Amino acid sequence: MKVKSILLMVLMFVSLGCFAAPSIQVTLLGTASATTISSQRYGMATVVRVNGKALLFDAGRGALIRLHEAGVDLRDISAIFITHLHSDHLTGLPDIYATAPIRGRNVPFDLYGPPDITRVADGLKLMFAPNNAIREKDNEINAWASNIIVHPITKEGVVYDQGGVKVTAFLVDHGQNVKPAFGYRVDYQGRSVVISGDTRYTANLVKHSQNVDLLIHCVVAARPEMIAAVPDTMNHLYGYLASPDDVARVLNETKPHLGVLSHITLFAGGGIAPETDDMLHQSIASKYKGNFLVGHDLETYDIFADGHVELDKQAANTHGDDAVSVSLTGSH
Ligand SMILES: [Zn+2]
Repeated sequence: MKVKSILLMVLMFVSLGCFAAPSIQVTLLGTASATTISSQRYGMATVVRVNGKALLFDAGRGALIRLHEAGVDLRDISAIFITHLHSDHLTGLPDIYATAPIRGRNVPFDLYGPPDITRVADGLKLMFAPNNAIREKDNEINAWASNIIVHPITKEGVVYDQGGVKVTAFLVDHGQNVKPAFGYRVDYQGRSVVISGDTRYTANLVKHSQNVDLLIHCVVAARPEMIAAVPDTMNHLYGYLASPDDVARVLNETKPHLGVLSHITLFAGGGIAPETDDMLHQSIASKYKGNFLVGHDLETYDIFADGHVELDKQAANTHGDDAVSVSLTGSH
């Protein structure tokens, strides 16, 4: 009887473990860099779902569509964090800003980023001022929702702390003309994810990524013949984005439970093809023996309470097109 009870408890424990909800879910919405125009890789954006909150990091091309595909309701976005003010981290923002109120969002977005994020917010409001005025008159949107609560980040540290979810901004090195550029770390109940932002190797990212469960890191790569053909161009790129060697170094110095590449720049031209995912993986795997993957749009990574991280095969792209407005009496 005693043995049976123990067996039952073990079985219950195992099955509970199997079905335990992840502590943090991270979905790669877009994984491309600025010059990539692709239906496979949309612009840079990542959503972190934790404790009932959806935190959006960067909002590149197509972020709105990817949010929808990933099943994130615009009303549920708690805050938006921009790493730096390059266009490929922002071009999806106008779409999100303008669409949220006509999809029933009735509160403003909280928008975090480098100090000039105030100019971005002012620009958005100016761009859509006529639209907002029209829709307010037609009672299609809540006027309050067209505001933006701006949080310029002037120094490193915790910038968001709500419901046990902490977001820390830290400085990264994206070249001398992009200052400040931030990476972000999300912590919740001992579990964590770091989003590198755009950066070359920097010891500060290593410092802020200690004991992290999931590390999402940018990369720029090219075939050896490309590097040999245009060494000055490649050195210029390596001056502000991480090479595969840089990524391997960061992974070796942080040893996350899982590393995932995003903001993937595969440099090509002059008849020389871009590296394949396998080539990119191999170039890092030759120098780093831990777990890491080349990321793709709409992949969701689950971080569990014990710290292990899994690619969630069920979560990706479960929400198809939605032609019907959910909230309005006459949307235009
Ligand atoms: Zn950039």
